Amino acid sequence: MGARDLIKTFSLGELRQGLAVTLRYMFAPKITIQYPEERTPASPRFRGLHALRRYPNGEERCIACKLCEAVCPAMAITIESAERVDANGQTSRRTTRYDIDLTKCIFCGFCEEACPVDAIVETHIFEYHGETRGDLYYTKQMLLANGDRYETEVAEAREQDARYR
Ligand code: SF4
Ligand code: SF4
Repeated sequence: MGARDLIKTFSLGELRQGLAVTLRYMFAPKITIQYPEERTPASPRFRGLHALRRYPNGEERCIACKLCEAVCPAMAITIESAERVDANGQTSRRTTRYDIDLTKCIFCGFCEEACPVDAIVETHIFEYHGETRGDLYYTKQMLLANGDRYETEVAEAREQDARYR
């Protein structure tokens, strides 16, 4: 060990260097976010929980064309359909079953891109969880309930998207 190293060791040089870093960060602006009270901004392109939308008259938008089911690369969507009389009094094809298995979904957004009537959408909601695998199997009723709950936010997001296109 040279004289220089000896001086450094006995003058606690490395310790003082370390403390200088601590001191510097003690007064630096804090970057920690106190979630959930505080939140970082989410990208407008973020794709979260799925929802099925309705028209203002309450009728489901989905016309059971199955394009979303066909395009889904994860095969996460299952649709069954039948004819029924809709809210306009006309006979139309509607889903009797519309399920999304979120354990398979990769949130690619292809389903909403493919939908011709803006029925299936991905909201900005990321705060959901399941304690069993089955909890993440979303049925038509659950997806419609999401649509009813988040319609205002979804409609605003769609308007913004249209402006950027
Ligand atoms: S986001 Fe992609 S993977 Fe998920 S259901 Fe839609 S198409 Fe399938
Ligand atoms: S959600 Fe859209 S793409 Fe999928 S079946 Fe319904 S209308 Fe067709």
